Amino acid sequence: MTSVRQVEKKHLWIHGLEVEAAKYAPLYSPYSDERIAEIAMADESLTKKAIESAQEAFQVISKMPAFKRSAILEKVVELLKERADEAAEVITIESAKPIIFAKGEVARTIETYKFAAEEAKRIHGETIPFDAAPGGVGRIGYTVRKPIGVIGAITPFNFPMNLVAHKVGPAIASGNSIVLKPASQTPLSALYMAGLFKEAGLPDGVLNVVTGSGSVVGEALINDDRIQMITFTGSPAVGIGIRNKAGLKKTTLELGSNAAVILDQDTNVDQIIDRCIMGAFSNQGQVCISLQRIYAHEDVFDEFVKKFVKATNQLKVGDPLDPETYISSLISKKETERALSWIEEAKQNGADVLTGGKCTNGILEPTVIVNVDPMLKVSCQEVFAPIVIINKVQSVEEAIGYVNHSRYGLQAGIYTKNIDHALLASETFEVGAVMINDIPTFRVDHMPYGGVKESGTGREGIKYAVEEMTELKLVVWNRGEMS
Ligand code: NAP
Repeated sequence: MTSVRQVEKKHLWIHGLEVEAAKYAPLYSPYSDERIAEIAMADESLTKKAIESAQEAFQVISKMPAFKRSAILEKVVELLKERADEAAEVITIESAKPIIFAKGEVARTIETYKFAAEEAKRIHGETIPFDAAPGGVGRIGYTVRKPIGVIGAITPFNFPMNLVAHKVGPAIASGNSIVLKPASQTPLSALYMAGLFKEAGLPDGVLNVVTGSGSVVGEALINDDRIQMITFTGSPAVGIGIRNKAGLKKTTLELGSNAAVILDQDTNVDQIIDRCIMGAFSNQGQVCISLQRIYAHEDVFDEFVKKFVKATNQLKVGDPLDPETYISSLISKKETERALSWIEEAKQNGADVLTGGKCTNGILEPTVIVNVDPMLKVSCQEVFAPIVIINKVQSVEEAIGYVNHSRYGLQAGIYTKNIDHALLASETFEVGAVMINDIPTFRVDHMPYGGVKESGTGREGIKYAVEEMTELKLVVWNRGEMS
């Protein structure tokens, strides 16, 4: 496999082949502004060509036995393990994700495909006790799970390899074919994986990668009747638009959040500082479950703020390829400007910026803000930048009110030794998942994952994605008289 640094022109990937487009757009490093590659910009007709290829390949993959689908996924696991360092570099170069986190993402991607390989072998239905109804006596029956068809997968920039795996892995495990549209800033990781799948023996056309603008390629996928399902990870605004246009297509929407944690009065502050730093600042805060809001009980507020700010100031900011770097550039200058304007709004409205708050050498410094009004953007919208707010609360009940005062509901956490408080949080947090004694940023790749409110609908985590990507079919046998 050629290193990304030597590759200039990247074509579309359709039916197991590189396909040229009429137009190419330059791809720049978010950190150095260096031109990394020229990326094919598909139009509607090339997107349709990819859909046609996937439709044809569906006839192959849907009939392939489970053990063979599993073996292909196992082979991808093996190849990715061999090339983990190279794969991490691809992620870092296109997204400015610090290499330590890119390596972590590759390790997670390997796990995701491994789970998919295992899950391919255990997709099954259940027998139904038909004689439980008088009219069902004499019948036996069972359900089976059938692959849904061609899946349109649209992915974001922030985990360009593992979030692709969360769609491609379960789709192949369950016998579907895919047209994948990666984020415009991070097409290289997706194309890299397509190469590995080819090497692993995936039949041509099962995985197609169509690069280009979201509005052109995305819309072409959503509007095409041959696509049975759209699985989307990205911003709420785009996700809601997709849902509105999808009609009867199945949709899974994994959207954003402004995730929060509560620190109860009995929290051991020293034990949680590193974890909270990771939650708030890994990948520059560009994580859908990034720790954005911290509600600290008044008994621990001062100690936590002091130690958290000290730890923040020790983070190394710089070149994402440097193994010591913890924080690098945001995905674009526009995003940096937006984050700075939100910090400015907070300052203008009485919040205190304790550290960071400015951009140095093109990198937004990790920023800690206290005393933030809940109506300010850094609190009530998804910040998606290395910015965390810490507010003082008098009780867990008050903090739960703040956590739930949000348009989003992906994950939330509480640190407490009080069983009643833990139970109250688990019962009342309006989210897809509750973390007791952890930050909301916790995720492993087989757990059910997804949100409520504007954080989306449907669940990922291989087994759960397989459920979304298959249709339940019932078979009933009449063993009595034929009529
Ligand atoms: P985004 O701007 O919504 O883009 C996501 C994908 O949608 C990209 O491939 C984009 O293509 C495409 N797109 C844009 N406009 C479209 C349209 N009209 N129709 C169809 N597709 C369209 O999101 P992002 O900035 O890449 O990612 C950040 C967001 O993703 C955050 O909100 C984050 O919380 C969320 N996220 C959620 C999860 C989760 O599991 N819940 C995980 C990670 C990220 P272009 O790049 O070409 O515009």
